[in-house]
Amino acid sequence: QGGQAQREIPFSQPGNLTKVFAVASGKGGVGKSSVTVNLAIAMAKQGLKVGVVDADIYGHSVPAMLGVADSRPTQVDDLIMPVPTSSGVSVISIGMLKPRRDQVVAWRGPMLDRALVQMLSDVYWGDLDVLLLDLPPGTGDVAISLGQHLPGAEVVVVTTPQEAAAEVAERAGTMASMMHQRVVGVVENMSHLPCPHCSAEGKEHRLEIFGSGGGDRVAATLGQRFGYDVPVLGRIPIDVSLREGGDVGKPIVDADPTAPAALELTAIADRL
Ligand code: ADP
Repeated sequence: QGGQAQREIPFSQPGNLTKVFAVASGKGGVGKSSVTVNLAIAMAKQGLKVGVVDADIYGHSVPAMLGVADSRPTQVDDLIMPVPTSSGVSVISIGMLKPRRDQVVAWRGPMLDRALVQMLSDVYWGDLDVLLLDLPPGTGDVAISLGQHLPGAEVVVVTTPQEAAAEVAERAGTMASMMHQRVVGVVENMSHLPCPHCSAEGKEHRLEIFGSGGGDRVAATLGQRFGYDVPVLGRIPIDVSLREGGDVGKPIVDADPTAPAALELTAIADRL
């Protein structure tokens, strides 16, 4: 690899028509990867050609969520073929670049940068309509690299309603803006739990497990800071079938498209 001329990243070339969205969060566990894969599938259902780059070095859970945990990309000449999934989305993961699956990624800045560039430029993506990137949580090396290589990427910030999550999400959004990327909106995940007992009686009662206001707060703060409107793109309820869908590799937008969480994810995809 050393000394080889680097291929250009197609998505940063003038005239490239692929829309690139980076999905960011302040901390882990807020549902960033779940949102990424479900948005990807919702967009594929609209008839778009969608690719997903799993750049979450800590999690890299995207392949499992898309049902291709054990797949390895094939290589044609010196190009890596992204892994196709049953939902029509192609994926490449930082986990697939490791020699062994159980190996821990202990890469520092330059190696992470190379891995990110490799996933963008050495992978044969074809003519994508949309590329979604699942970023690691926080404001680390990968976010900086992405900002340098793809300043045109638009950033979606995922948070929960919780104060502590919102505060760090604001930092992730601010980081994107410092890298000259536009924050297109905020997704509030795990917004509330519809009380199952009340629903059974035809009543609606929302349990605010993680409090309330996080999404609004992040959107308002970032909008004020940047001087443009940062909307809340949607609020996704807590839904057991969303978690199950991720666990079994069949995301809820595919497995149970009329569930409220799936409908909200589809609506968010429409707004992007
Ligand atoms: P992150 O990428 O931010 O670390 P994940 O997408 O991996 O978060 O989600 C963390 C866990 O929470 C996963 O097990 C996922 O299935 C679950 N989860 C995420 N969003 C929801 C939701 N709205 N309802 C129920 N479970 C969820």
